[in-house]
Formats: sequence, C-alpha cells, structure tokens
Amino acid sequence: MSTASVYLDHNASSPLRPAALDAMVEALRSGGNPSSVHRMGRAARARIDAARRQVAALVGALPAEIVFTSGGTEANNLALAGAGRRRVLVSAVEHDSVLKAVPDAEIIPVDRDGVVDLAALERSLAASEEAALVSVMFANNETGALQPIGEIVRLARAAGALVHCDAVQGAGRAPIEMHGLGVDYLSLSAHKLGGPAGVGALAVRAGAPLSTDRRGGGQESSRRAGTENVAGIAGFGVAAKEAYGGLAIDGWRAGLEGALLNIAPDARIFGAGAPRLDNTTCISMPGVRAETQVMALDLSGICVSAGAACSSGKVTRSATLTAMGVDAAVADTALRISLGWNSAQQDIERLIAAWRELYIRVGRSDMSRARAA
Ligand code: PLP
Repeated sequence: MSTASVYLDHNASSPLRPAALDAMVEALRSGGNPSSVHRMGRAARARIDAARRQVAALVGALPAEIVFTSGGTEANNLALAGAGRRRVLVSAVEHDSVLKAVPDAEIIPVDRDGVVDLAALERSLAASEEAALVSVMFANNETGALQPIGEIVRLARAAGALVHCDAVQGAGRAPIEMHGLGVDYLSLSAHKLGGPAGVGALAVRAGAPLSTDRRGGGQESSRRAGTENVAGIAGFGVAAKEAYGGLAIDGWRAGLEGALLNIAPDARIFGAGAPRLDNTTCISMPGVRAETQVMALDLSGICVSAGAACSSGKVTRSATLTAMGVDAAVADTALRISLGWNSAQQDIERLIAAWRELYIRVGRSDMSRARAA
C-alpha cells in the first residue's frame, strides 16, 4: 500500500500551487515597498497590479474593485462593517467570520438542504423600512450547498438592500461573475484555491459604499491601510489565474457518494437535495463519531475534516447541520471530504477503501452493541 498521504481537506486549506510558491519566492527575493517611487518599489507595485487583474478576472470584477486583505475573515468583516448599514440580515449557515462579526444580525433560516428560505428573507426585508445589508454565502464550507444568489439579490434590491456574498469556498470551484450576480461585495480567500493563507480580497462594486475604521496609510486606494503583503498577493494572483478554469473533477463526487452509500446505505449526504460544489461531500457514517473517523482515517494516511475545521482545532457540533434540522446524534457523525486542484482518482479509491474498513470495524460493531444493549 502506498504510504503517501491523501489530502481531501481542500475546504480547510488547499495545498499551495507550485506556480504560486514560485511567484511568492520571487517577490520575497525582490523585496521593495509598493509605495516607493524608485524601481524596486515600482517592481513590487507591478506584482500587485498583475495580481489585482488576475483576482478580478476570476470573479468577473474590475481590477479597481479589488481590495486586498489578510484573508476571507477580514474581507467579511470589512464588508459587514464598511457597508454602513445598521440593519444586517444573514443566513443561518454563514461562516463564523460573518455570524460573529454582526452578533445582532437578523438570521434567515435555511431548509433541510441548507438553502436560504427565500420567503423568510422576503418577509424579513419587508418587516422594516430601514435599509439593510443582506449577507449570504456563495457556497457552504461544510456541505458545498450553493445559494440562489441571483434570487437573493433580486429580493434585496426590491427592498433597497445592499448584498454581500462570501464566495470564499466558491471561487475557483464554480464560475462566479460578480456583476452577473449583481452583488455589491464579494469575499475571497487565497488559501482555498491554492494560494497562501493570510491573503484574501474584498471585491467592492464600483459605487458601493465602503468605510473603514482602520487608520493608517492610503494603500488600496485608502480602503485598506497597511503595507501590502506583496509576496502573498503575488501568490494569490497566480493561484487565481490557475483556478480560473475550475477543477477537473467532473463526475467524481457522484462516484464517491455512490460508493459510500453502497457500503452504508443508511448513511446520509447532507445538502444532497441542493445544487452543490463538485468538490464537497458531507456524509454521516452511522454510529461512528466524526472525531473517531478523522483519527482512524488519519492513521490510514487520509486527511479529512469533521465539520468546519477552519474555525477551531476542536470538534464542536456543526451549526450548519443544526440549522438544517439535522439531529444532534447524526450531526456528530458527519465527515467532510473536499477535493481540490491536486486531487486524483486514486485518492478517492483510497478513501473509499479506508471508509469501508472503518465502517465494518467500528460502525457495525457499535450498532450491534447498541442493539444488544
Ligand atoms: N468564509 C468561509 C465560507 C470559509 O470557509 C472561511 C474559511 O474556512 C472563511 C470565510 C475565512 O477565510 P480565511 O481563512 O481566509 O480568513
């Protein structure tokens, strides 16, 4: 058996693409402050300008609409505070960097597949005259479920609301056209698409309001003070360029899910009734807690996640699955498998074999113990 690790946790972080690493090393070697007027400064500025064009192209934005940040978390915080709307409506399945940024936001419920309840959104928008900001993610980090952003924008516009979309998990995995969608703000993160962690961007529609309480220099057209992370931004740009075509994993998810359901017909795939990202499967292994699965699969050399790994090392019950009405005991057995740019068919085969072995060893024996008790 091969001892090489199988990495199927791209929704936590995608490995750095070699071309992004090369661009980063080159930028680090070259140095220079992009605000300096001399040749070194101009070279650093040129790297940022190139990356700005590459990131803008990924989501159909104009280069001038891209504000580089320290990641998706900062992009979300910047949009939610910077739009200047006191009334904020967010879906129940948003990432913590949205939910915790606006603790008094009005929560829009989701259905059993994790898709925003449009009628509830419409009712909430109509409940007050006060102009709102609506924040709904493009794709969910745990289930991959896609939200009907076009419909959400239509309802929001009719009520005079601005729209923010956290597209951290969608960018590079599904086609995204910021202006086609009609959103005002779009958050991105480099490390979900093969760039470095600690870099991201907020795309701000030309003309949309954006204030910031961050004090300092006039970088990013006075929208984000602080000397730019040139190497990180250069790596982000190259990763965005490579991610433009999406992932070459057509049909893989169906094969994976079919095989897992064949092994455990009573397993449940979360969000299965919704359109989903091709790279994400969130599945229960009946009777086996997620942390047991993660540890056992790790011993087999397979890296996957239980719930949202990006927010904490410890396993807490998934708020997304809870919002979808999933029973606590079932939610605790949910495993997230997420593919990415360097995934191969044999990775899936190794996962299926290890999952089968674990299910037979632990799952069935747990269930027979439960029956005997
Ligand atoms: N939004 C979503 C949907 C995410 O999945 C994540 C990270 O997992 C973030 C935002 C935060 O991005 P970053 O890690 O770049 O701060």
